Amino acid sequence: MTNPLRPLKTLGLIGGMSWESSLVYYQKLNQGVREQLGGLYSAPLLLASLEFAQIAELQHQGDWAQLEKLLVEAGQGLQGAGASALMIATNTMHKLYDPVAASLDIPVLHIAEATGRALVAAGCRRPLLLATAFTMEQDFYKGYLEQRFGLEVRVPESEDRAEVHRVIYEELCQGQVLPTSKARYQAIVAKDTQADSIIFGCTEVDLLVAAGDFDRPCFDSTRLHVEAGLAAILGERTDQRAQL
Ligand code: GLU
Repeated sequence: MTNPLRPLKTLGLIGGMSWESSLVYYQKLNQGVREQLGGLYSAPLLLASLEFAQIAELQHQGDWAQLEKLLVEAGQGLQGAGASALMIATNTMHKLYDPVAASLDIPVLHIAEATGRALVAAGCRRPLLLATAFTMEQDFYKGYLEQRFGLEVRVPESEDRAEVHRVIYEELCQGQVLPTSKARYQAIVAKDTQADSIIFGCTEVDLLVAAGDFDRPCFDSTRLHVEAGLAAILGERTDQRAQL
């Protein structure tokens, strides 16, 4: 080993929503540590992998009180097990960011914070958001980007939102990646000529499409969230809110 021994911080992940995307987090966090430190270095991680059929059912029933209970319990478990910082590895469940963060003493790295910063740094102002209906239609995510970063977040029209949502739950979260759905996403994006960029605002979207599939800059929430997690593992500043 050529690198000096370096103590790394343990990152907690509330994942399994779905596990298809948690796998990407796991791989990218480990790859990122290896790229930074080389050799045998890997990411110290604690994962609470929730059972997604139950989560999805509660989401669609609108039982956010029960979902909050599950996430707070998972977060406290990870904190108790020694996590120095935490990530909720899904955009949709950031609806519950505030109560989860308030129940913990460790920083919780907000996925829209990482995404908003990248958009602003690239000079993009009017992103089109591809996400679940919860994320596209409610205020917890769009509002965060609008209020904290002054972005004008756009969403597809109603029928297209339903299609983007369907593909996420019926295909991507179940491990199906279909070329027809990729073409649908491309057609949906092409309709919005006002958007100057695209947010992959669901952690499974990057399983289906990549930046090269579109004619505008793309911001992948999974990748950007992973970068924030890597900074926390490597001991860089994790107090995101204080940096603004
Ligand atoms: N992983 C997705 C997201 O980023 C959707 C699944 C979920 O509802 O958590 O929003």
